[in-house]
Amino acid sequence: MKTTMIKCPACGAGVEPDGRSVVECPYCGTKISVADDDSVIRVVNEAEIIKSNNEIELEKLRIEEQRRQEESIRKSFKSTFIFIISIVLVIFLIVIIMGLFMNE
Ligand SMILES: [Zn+2]
Repeated sequence: MKTTMIKCPACGAGVEPDGRSVVECPYCGTKISVADDDSVIRVVNEAEIIKSNNEIELEKLRIEEQRRQEESIRKSFKSTFIFIISIVLVIFLIVIIMGLFMNE
């Protein structure tokens, strides 16, 4: 019987099997099934890990989407601002040109 530490597949912490077939990681609570020869390590709650990974992935997507929306709002605000400034400038130029013609 080997007494080597096994690595928790969920958090990477070293866990001592102590000859048990199923060990619970003391750090994250993941149940790890240890085969008789200690060479095959299987995570018992794989589904939960996949689920939490999916949740993290979803959260990432949600943040990305929010960031993109803010970016597009900022862009449209910027283009509206540029549009208004150009109109004001054109009106300003027309007034100056008309003023010059009227003085003559
Ligand atoms: Zn762990």
